[in-house]
Amino acid sequence: MANERKNLHVKNGDRVIVTAGKDKGKIGNVKKVVPSEAKVYVEGANMVTKAQKPNAMAGIQGGLIKIEAPLDSSNVMVVCPSCEKPTRIKHVVIDGKKVRVCKKCGEQLDV
Ligand SMILES: [Zn+2]
Repeated sequence: MANERKNLHVKNGDRVIVTAGKDKGKIGNVKKVVPSEAKVYVEGANMVTKAQKPNAMAGIQGGLIKIEAPLDSSNVMVVCPSCEKPTRIKHVVIDGKKVRVCKKCGEQLDV
């Protein structure tokens, strides 16, 4: 597989809406993106239950915990902070800097 650097349309801290899967319609903040796998972790979305091994050293009690499982980046859409609608992103270059722009209202997302 080519080791190309993918540019995802979502970034850490973005507000996104899930567009597919069991949490379709859920809105949350992006916790983490994994560009190499085109995956995103969205706060409170795609929760899975995992068994946590107790670790006395780290003060962790064993048991079942809920954690976010990654979502495919194609299954989330950025919610534009300006028009507050789920939108597609356009990449434009302004003053030599690549910025993301909302396709609906034309506002920059990275300010
Ligand atoms: Zn917008």
